[in-house]
Amino acid sequence: MSEATPPTRRRVLVTGASRGIGAAIAKRLGGEGDHVFVHYAGREDAAKAVAADIEAAGGAATVVQADLGDAAQLDAMLAQVEADGPLDAYVANAGLTKDGLVLTMREKDWRRVLDVDLDAPFKILQRVLRGMLRARAGRVVHVSSIQAIRGGLGQPNYAAAKAGLLALTRAAALEVAERGITVNAVLPGFIDTDMTASLQRKAGDRILEHIPLKRYGTPDDVAGLVRFLLSDDAAYITGQSFVVDGGLSVA
Ligand code: NAP
Repeated sequence: MSEATPPTRRRVLVTGASRGIGAAIAKRLGGEGDHVFVHYAGREDAAKAVAADIEAAGGAATVVQADLGDAAQLDAMLAQVEADGPLDAYVANAGLTKDGLVLTMREKDWRRVLDVDLDAPFKILQRVLRGMLRARAGRVVHVSSIQAIRGGLGQPNYAAAKAGLLALTRAAALEVAERGITVNAVLPGFIDTDMTASLQRKAGDRILEHIPLKRYGTPDDVAGLVRFLLSDDAAYITGQSFVVDGGLSVA
């Protein structure tokens, strides 16, 4: 029996892939044979564990580091990712919160969240699209939040950044559609990760009362949607935003 030629692996960057939603996305893609660039900011051990899981599942993984609020680190990370060629897909998932009220928020907390959650995805998008435009193919998914379309009380910086991502998604999608590149966004609701752990401790089951499906989302609930948007089945979908929140935003 002749040996089959191994299929070419898609090269996919997932930012914030060391934990939570990003780790689930990275493992899902890696499990399908992709070469995943597993990005992290500070938790190298966690990123390495995700990479090991991907390799055990038959995918390939490269761990890359950058605080996305630091332009030099961001540039160095992208140089490493693109050293062997352009990306086939990019998932802008890394994010952080620094909550407060409009009236009392310190400017540095506003700036930090905008830097990491909106400016960095813009800078990375601008860069990775160049390679995708040359290849006349590419897939981008921005991980926004239902806070982009809800009240955003206590999270004006985060809500503004995540709403900005939706506008960036639409504008970029229109700009690159002719070259066969799609750009979409997902809006998770309340997902059980480190980001929501303290809120879960404080508000407990009161949050569940507002979620029609009566459970918190899992990182895998979001990863399944992202995986679909990066697949051939989603080839005719671009510029769109998809809510994955157990019905919270329509309750
Ligand atoms: P998480 O568990 O807190 O993980 C955050 C990830 O982002 C980690 O990989 C972290 O890297 C990375 N990160 C944090 N600060 C960074 C920085 N300055 N530069 C680069 N990377 C940084 O968060 P999550 O809940 O999985 O959230 C993932 C995405 O989904 C975020 O964009 C978040 O806004 C969005 N989202 C989450 C929820 C939710 O309910 N959890 C809901 C809606 C939207 P290290 O591990 O190295 O620190």
